[in-house]
Amino acid sequence: YDDRDGYIWFNGEIVPWREAKVHVLTHGLHYGSCVFEGERCYNGQVFKLTEHSERLVDGGRIMGFELPYSVAELDAATNAIIAKNGFKDCYVRPVAWRGSEQMGVSAPNSKINVAIAVWEWGAYYSDLRLTRAIYDRPAPTAAPVHAKAAGLYMICTLSKHAAEAKGFGDALMLDYRGYVAETTGANLFMVSNGALHTPIADCFLNGITRRTVMDLARQRGIEVIERRIKPEELQGAQEIFVTGTAAEVTPVRAIDDVTYPVGPVTRDLMDDFRKLTTGAA
Ligand code: PMP
Repeated sequence: YDDRDGYIWFNGEIVPWREAKVHVLTHGLHYGSCVFEGERCYNGQVFKLTEHSERLVDGGRIMGFELPYSVAELDAATNAIIAKNGFKDCYVRPVAWRGSEQMGVSAPNSKINVAIAVWEWGAYYSDLRLTRAIYDRPAPTAAPVHAKAAGLYMICTLSKHAAEAKGFGDALMLDYRGYVAETTGANLFMVSNGALHTPIADCFLNGITRRTVMDLARQRGIEVIERRIKPEELQGAQEIFVTGTAAEVTPVRAIDDVTYPVGPVTRDLMDDFRKLTTGAA
């Protein structure tokens, strides 16, 4: 992704894409002192931009550092870099990390860097089939599970690569107790007896899309139940779908050898979400 035209917002400046580089002794690279965001811009407007900027700043605080930019400055920088690249519809990737001023686990005086890259990114999943992940989501006492922290994605990349090697699109991650958690990059819902069930977000990201879709379901009069879900319960579900900024609302067509239709609740919520994000009536 480093060799392309375009511009990246980097520590307050707009730089050519190929020049947005860091040193090999970057703390964030060695020790995972890094948080990021994922946003989508629809028709020139970033969906829930301020919520994403707030989550980035909060994520930095969870990781023990203060971003040198305010939420309002991050919002403005995001809009500026989208405009500079001339995009109307794109994905947005802000990232904040400890720099290369200090080496070692402890590096409290390292510089906090922030960059924002944007690129055109179509549908994240197609014909999504899941298989059980090789790693579980850690307990809240084992990792900063509510931050979108780069280090937490180590188990996601390993799990997703293992799933892809078996011919699946992504992995279904369980939590540290053995309950259903999420995929490697999206939250999970199941439709059962007309109600929408989703795991309690106590050890993974309470996605902005997840909360949006829960509201959209309630507006349709669908009961939304957050609870602990055992993996075997998914077998009896009528519909399963996942939600996320990149994934939007994507139906799950199979989990291992159990298949699911793209059902009416999933279709309605895909439609509602599309209308909400694009402003289409
Ligand atoms: N879980 C994980 C692991 C993710 O990476 C994402 C994407 N940010 C989500 C859930 C969904 O979060 P959101 O809807 O805020 O994008």
